[in-house]
Amino acid sequence: MDLSAHTPVMRQYLALKAQHPERLVFYRMGDFYELFYEDAEKAARLLDISLTRRGMSAGQPIPMAGVPYHAAEGYLARLVELGESVAICEQVGDPATSKGLVERQVMRIVTPGTVTEAALLPDHRDAPLVALAQRAGQVGVAVLTLSSGRFRVLEVPLPDLMSELERIQAREVLCQSGEEPATRGWVVQVLPAWHFDENRALRDLTQHFGVHDLAGFGSVSPLMLQAAGALFHYVQQAQGMHLPHIDRLEVQQTKDWVHLDEVTRRNLEITETLRGSVAPTLYSSLDTCRNSMGRRLLRHWLHHPLRDLNVIRARQEGIRQLIGRGDGHGAQQLQNLLKTTGDVERGVGRIALGSARPRDLVALRETLQGLPDLGTLLQDLTDSARLRELYDVLHHFPVEVVTLLQHSIASEPANLIREGGVIAPGFDAELDELRSIQNDCGAFLQALEQQERARTGIPTLKVEYNRVQGFYIEVTHVHRERIPDNYQRRQTLKNAERYLTPELKAFEERALAAGERALAREKWLYQQVLETLRRFLKELKMLALAIAELDVLACFAERAVALNLAAPEFCGELRMEIEGGRHLVVEQQVDRFVPNDTHLHEGRRLLLITGPNMGGKSTYMRQIALIALLAHTGSFVPARRALLGPLDQIFTRIGAGDDLASGRSTFLVEMSEAAYILHHATPASLVLVDEIGRGTSTFDGLALAHAIARHLLEKNRCACLFATHYFELTHLEREVAGVANVHLDAVEHRDRIVFLHALEEGAASRSYGLQVAALAGIPRPVLRWARELLARLEQQPGLRPAQDDLFQREWKPLPEEEQEENLRKPEPHPAMVRLAALEPDRLTPREALETLYALVAQVQSNPPPEG
Ligand code: ADP
Repeated sequence: MDLSAHTPVMRQYLALKAQHPERLVFYRMGDFYELFYEDAEKAARLLDISLTRRGMSAGQPIPMAGVPYHAAEGYLARLVELGESVAICEQVGDPATSKGLVERQVMRIVTPGTVTEAALLPDHRDAPLVALAQRAGQVGVAVLTLSSGRFRVLEVPLPDLMSELERIQAREVLCQSGEEPATRGWVVQVLPAWHFDENRALRDLTQHFGVHDLAGFGSVSPLMLQAAGALFHYVQQAQGMHLPHIDRLEVQQTKDWVHLDEVTRRNLEITETLRGSVAPTLYSSLDTCRNSMGRRLLRHWLHHPLRDLNVIRARQEGIRQLIGRGDGHGAQQLQNLLKTTGDVERGVGRIALGSARPRDLVALRETLQGLPDLGTLLQDLTDSARLRELYDVLHHFPVEVVTLLQHSIASEPANLIREGGVIAPGFDAELDELRSIQNDCGAFLQALEQQERARTGIPTLKVEYNRVQGFYIEVTHVHRERIPDNYQRRQTLKNAERYLTPELKAFEERALAAGERALAREKWLYQQVLETLRRFLKELKMLALAIAELDVLACFAERAVALNLAAPEFCGELRMEIEGGRHLVVEQQVDRFVPNDTHLHEGRRLLLITGPNMGGKSTYMRQIALIALLAHTGSFVPARRALLGPLDQIFTRIGAGDDLASGRSTFLVEMSEAAYILHHATPASLVLVDEIGRGTSTFDGLALAHAIARHLLEKNRCACLFATHYFELTHLEREVAGVANVHLDAVEHRDRIVFLHALEEGAASRSYGLQVAALAGIPRPVLRWARELLARLEQQPGLRPAQDDLFQREWKPLPEEEQEENLRKPEPHPAMVRLAALEPDRLTPREALETLYALVAQVQSNPPPEG
């Protein structure tokens, strides 16, 4: 780029911008951050700020938009939320002394995955930064939560990548060009290939951790290393500093968790509903955490159900102990104490990064002051090994940290260190002295006032101070004649004159100098305090984790009592015995929830679920999956009793919508999800299939549903819940071992349908399609007509739809007169018959259109008789 035609300021700006082409550059000018050219246009659009011009450069007007320096955090928060990254460019030279242009540098880069400031980061969720390195169908995944310093690596097969990113709940993903994953709630940043260089990664990481090689952290594969290296370099650049709280690398194995693919995670509405809102979800029904750290950990646990039964049982024991304490109020007592704890984790992150604000330290101090009470509550709960371990962390936390915070930080410090008044009195003699000079002002001014009144004989003379004028002596015009010679005039007001004396001037200089020195001293002391705290990063991180875990355990215990949950038991073979199971989320939304049992075992592996629409099939299937998932987080579950076998994965195939964005039809989505399950389900998996085969013709769909059910049963041999509207499938029970028919029933009551929601053995006897249609408000004449057509269809075997079994069972011959009348009526036109048999709700838009064309063709080729 030829910069020579530009003005000096623009030359400087463009040179900085060239280093950050993908980011918005906030260019500091006085009290504003300015954006220019395309950045200005983009920011004006995103932030709804006005777009102006700043003169001309290189013969062209410069579009400009700006945000005030003091309000920048709010704008940054919005930009980061929208997935933007910002390079913040500050004046590093002193504008007062520098000749010509002030020097500027990019001091900070804010990206969605590297923010740690309280104002930019939501409390309840983390914003993990992820880097990916791919080769030969495998992906190395590095994950960093910068606000806590947790740094993890793992390796997964490429097809599992999306579900991993969903599990991690990534905020920002770094990768090489050509390897970008689809985006779902995260921002993708493409980095040059050399960022992923293995040798450089090894050098940077060993240097940072101060180790010879990485073997001590576990077996770090080359792909993990490449991803970790790229991520680390990116963060170092963004933060522009050392990252002391990242003190180890965790090597993770995906087989530690019950695997939930991306579709299942969404279908089960764990932390987000299918429509994308935060409630009602499993998380929103469970969360009574008292601390943001606990809330984040709860989300994490729900997305990472464990397979290690020892950990699960240890959590259960903790919950049991908490429930048992204090006549059943143990959980609430603990929650009350946790209310006063702060977000130590994020505070510690900011202490490490040098950006901790006084209020972070106050929150930490309050938390530490609460530890003894927490300890007292926990100390006799020794029957739980896990609570004991957590207690030990609290109990052994170094007491010097709280002592330091009590002595060094004022009881109610200012928000910002530059405002002063942050360091407590009595902590530092020099600061106290500087402050006393300021404080002595009052006494000095009073004495001076007395002295000057006596000297001049002016009874109304006042000695005062304001921020603009500094110190002055004020005399009303009435006494102007009595002004002594050494008064120098400072300002004239309407009624009075303000003066300065040499004595007052000297005092003013001393006081102002003391103020400045006090502030400088405070800043320095504050840095010393942070420095000392950094020596305890390890202990502080452990403390944060312990408090978070206590919070989640207390939440689980409180929920167990409030929602009447039971501790699940585990066994070694394929088994799900659930008595009185409930759906935790639906239960909170209906007046009366009907609990249902589940019995699955080796000889009864597939439950074929039938019943009318709205009968509760989906709810029943999901409740079982959610019970299994919850059981593996360590939580108690909504059931009277639950006995569960091993679980490696949960899969769901539940009514998909068209994935229009990726150009896939409903049917294709449905089939690719089914294919994934058929390839991956094992005898330890739980599979939910809801209405497979709807997206195609009836016979195709039925045939596929049948074959899929058999494959799941005989090849995958998994536990399976299979809801279907194909009643033909209910024959499977007789044909193949391991299938059991169950159904949800409804009854007709005075022309209305009442759903019972109670699960019964055996297949459903009716589909109640017309009754459900009536509920949905289909006009009466249409329903009457449909009923009539249904009766005729049932009389004409050739035209009957595939669900003949069901209809046959229901079929009763018409009374003779009616039959005769029917015979007298002309045969309905075939298009009418077809139309009446349609179920519009079951058609995809495309099928509807195709059917419409077919009907028109039918009518045109065979016009209905006149009249
Ligand atoms: P289906 O999948 O059979 O069409 P759903 O599972 O979607 O039916 O259930 C329909 C509605 O019935 C739910 O939204 C809920 O309000 C209610 N429901 C489902 N199961 C129960 C139950 N066990 N107890 C009470 N209400 C239920």
